[in-house]
Amino acid sequence: MIIIMKHGATTEQVGNITQYIERWGCKPHISAGAETTIIGVIGDVRRVDRDQIALMDGVESTVRILRPYKLVGRDFHPMDTLVNVNGVVVGGEKIVVMAGPCAVESREQLIETAWAVKNAGASMLRGGAYKPRSSPYSFQGLGEDGLKIMAEARDLTGLPVVTEVMDPQMIPLISDYADLLQVGARNMQNFALLAALGKNNRPVLLKRGMMSSIEELLMAAEYILANGNDQVILCERGIRTFETYTRNTLDINAVPLVKQLSHLPMIVDPSHATGKWELVEPTSRAAVAAGADGLIVEVHPRPEEALSDGAQSLKPDRFAQLMRNIQPIAAALGRSL
Ligand code: PEP
Ligand code: MN
Repeated sequence: MIIIMKHGATTEQVGNITQYIERWGCKPHISAGAETTIIGVIGDVRRVDRDQIALMDGVESTVRILRPYKLVGRDFHPMDTLVNVNGVVVGGEKIVVMAGPCAVESREQLIETAWAVKNAGASMLRGGAYKPRSSPYSFQGLGEDGLKIMAEARDLTGLPVVTEVMDPQMIPLISDYADLLQVGARNMQNFALLAALGKNNRPVLLKRGMMSSIEELLMAAEYILANGNDQVILCERGIRTFETYTRNTLDINAVPLVKQLSHLPMIVDPSHATGKWELVEPTSRAAVAAGADGLIVEVHPRPEEALSDGAQSLKPDRFAQLMRNIQPIAAALGRSL
């Protein structure tokens, strides 16, 4: 349920309502806009008498909310959420491009890539130190050494860094090095991980599971917000379909739909969505045109030598070309890079 207060409702009137809600074991969520205040009711709302609330001083109207994601939905929180990643704001007018290798492979590889993506106009550096590989025999990442290299690249270039966390126990260590903690597609419904990230103070990049619906993605984000952290960026990275020519199918619908349903920023990963470097630029253009707040793109100086995801990694000059070619699309939508 949401309660819409009258224009000019007093703090005392808002306080009376929140007390009433708490008396029934529910939690109020106040969103104070310039014009009106909206109070969201979280919990078992069946016990709260809507007709009674409608009679209370300062109340304009009450609305039943049937969607299961309360904190993530726009009903409770109509304004866009801005996520601040160490000074880089995601969800505002700027389209934020995160770029870098799938995995940190060596100091040289990462620092070279970091400078290349920075010079091409990226605002954040990506790189996995702990890799969720389908095979236990594939390269698993450099672990803490990889995190140290990421932190060094940030110190050298000034780019905030994003890296994946797979296990709740790893959150403190990874938070020591990284600015944005990524939940990979395979862990989107690892609820212990999501709850722990909700209690942590770093922003989170939550990728859509490869077989997850949009509602499941929003409910996964709800776990993080319900545990206290509203700094969440959502990411469409392709879903599995019957198509075999691409690694996944980019669900472009998810971009405008999630932006309608939720106030959280939404970005697109065209690399994992397609699995083919040739498709990365065209799908990036589509993502920006559809209203994405950013991109996360795999870039490797020598994709043929990459230890993971070489086939979908752009060489630095192709990444620079991508940046040039999305610029006019961003500008047409009144956004900058
Ligand atoms: C990645 O970003 O390197 C990654 C493993 O992505 P996903 O979780 O989307 O497969
Ligand atoms: Mn990858």
